[in-house]
Amino acid sequence: MKKIQCLLCFLLVGLSYSVFAAKLSYLLEPQKIADDTWLLQGKLEDFTRKNGGNIVNTAFIVTEDGVVVFDTGPSKRYGEAMRQVISSITDKPVVHVFNSHHHPDHFLGNQAFNDTKIWALPETGKLIAQHGNAFAENMYRLVGDWMRSTEVQLPTEPLDIAAVPLMAVGKHHFRFFKMVGHSGADLLMLDETTGVLFASDIVFYQRALTTPHTPSLSVWIENLEQLKNWQYNTIVPGHGPVDTTGLAVEQMIDYLHWLDNTLTAAASQGLSMNEVMALPIDERFSGISLTRSEFVRSVFHLYSRYEEASF
Ligand SMILES: [Zn+2]
Repeated sequence: MKKIQCLLCFLLVGLSYSVFAAKLSYLLEPQKIADDTWLLQGKLEDFTRKNGGNIVNTAFIVTEDGVVVFDTGPSKRYGEAMRQVISSITDKPVVHVFNSHHHPDHFLGNQAFNDTKIWALPETGKLIAQHGNAFAENMYRLVGDWMRSTEVQLPTEPLDIAAVPLMAVGKHHFRFFKMVGHSGADLLMLDETTGVLFASDIVFYQRALTTPHTPSLSVWIENLEQLKNWQYNTIVPGHGPVDTTGLAVEQMIDYLHWLDNTLTAAASQGLSMNEVMALPIDERFSGISLTRSEFVRSVFHLYSRYEEASF
């Protein structure tokens, strides 16, 4: 009897351990989107204890001279899972990591890459140094144990794109651009060899955009109008599926104009913030996830500016 009890205990402990372990495993599935180029696409969700913050797109390019990584995800655990995926695909070392901007889901996986160069715009490095710990604490609150042992690992290499607009790694030629519309310092990377544009959070697709640090919606729209004229065939948004049709940028511009016009009209009518938050969202955006919650957040972030401007 004792033996059976012991066995039962062992099985239960084993079972609860495996359920626990399974719960905290990101199960990243690499998607090949171009020659040598892999995407880890995040869910079209907000941060939850279920998804562990895996709501962001990260990507890597395998070149003859090593692997180039674009964004490292929301936690140390994510960064480690990403490295495992990379080493399941190639034996090449990771040689360059780029952080697109200072939002936590894009750089908190850096610890898993502390043996390599981590590049970011100089402003992004400063913003991470200033706000990184507060962001990490907030992520602990939002997604819990997935964040265990995650600490801010600062970028090591300031990327001065006036001095280094182009970088060759193996046969791949990467061109860098700075925009400001989403976070004040947004790094975009174009792989001229494959035509893939890693657009950072300047582009969201099928997932409502976020506005906590935008300088203004009109600046963001200007950035996107510029981007429309660049030469690329595939766009990797910061959040949402890859786009080869141009629709992602069109959707962004359309939504930003709608948001800007809605807030302008509401302010000129003297609506309260609560009244604006309850306004209907145009039917044409119904296919985009999280429109209501992000609209409410955007009103919270931006409406007072529109009110001031309307006086
Ligand atoms: Zn993001």
